[in-house]
Amino acid sequence: MPLEIVTIPCLSDNYAFLAHDAASGNTALIDAPEAGPILAELDRRGWTLSHVLLTHHHYDHVDGLPAILEKHTAKVIGAAADAHRLPPLDQQVSDGDTFELGGEQVQVLDVSGHTVGHIAFYMPQSAAVFTADSLMALGCGRLFEGTAPQMWASLSKLAALPDDTIVCSGHEYTQSNAKFALTVDPDNAALQDRAADIDRARAANEPTVPSTLALENATNPFLRAADPAIQAHLGMAGADPAAVFAEIRARKDRF
Ligand code: ZN
Ligand code: FE
Repeated sequence: MPLEIVTIPCLSDNYAFLAHDAASGNTALIDAPEAGPILAELDRRGWTLSHVLLTHHHYDHVDGLPAILEKHTAKVIGAAADAHRLPPLDQQVSDGDTFELGGEQVQVLDVSGHTVGHIAFYMPQSAAVFTADSLMALGCGRLFEGTAPQMWASLSKLAALPDDTIVCSGHEYTQSNAKFALTVDPDNAALQDRAADIDRARAANEPTVPSTLALENATNPFLRAADPAIQAHLGMAGADPAAVFAEIRARKDRF
């Protein structure tokens, strides 16, 4: 049985997620931007946290944790590399590690770039990956600590997961990401369609997260640095995709 995944809007534009295993009753929280909405959702569903999975140390992904742990006793799991700047961890994990959540074998992926030490959690049986500020809907996180080649390697790892994987990312930035994406990949019909869908969803105040990896691979310019049309549009035909990615990221920073 796949885990039941619930998206919780937090702060102004963050998302936290719950992953619930009905058989065991285990429930994981992925990132803790803000206690109020997360505790309310757990209450409403009658779920008790068993795990908290942290993707990276930024305040908008961890600040809600102390107040949540006052109400729930959960095992807090985060990157060994970031243990010194994350809240206290009960389990430290690294790239390639796995751990059990209900019936799911969760895989830890290092996706450094936004920060060095950022991890993603991949749940293959549930076909879901929790990417926070690495791969985002139509975007990727800003390079605060890592290099462009490092982020390109992280995104390439995520892009290679099965196409039907649900991408649970950390922010509602998709509408502005779409405006930028159209400047580097203007003739992509799938991107044009997605941009229209996003405008409709946002006008109705609906979230655009999660998305699917198939959709990201077809439309997200940060995954498409090897695409001939994008390379030609940037005047970089035949260039190393890591260099094309770096150019796209630099343009987004100026956008
Ligand atoms: Zn962040
Ligand atoms: Fe963030």
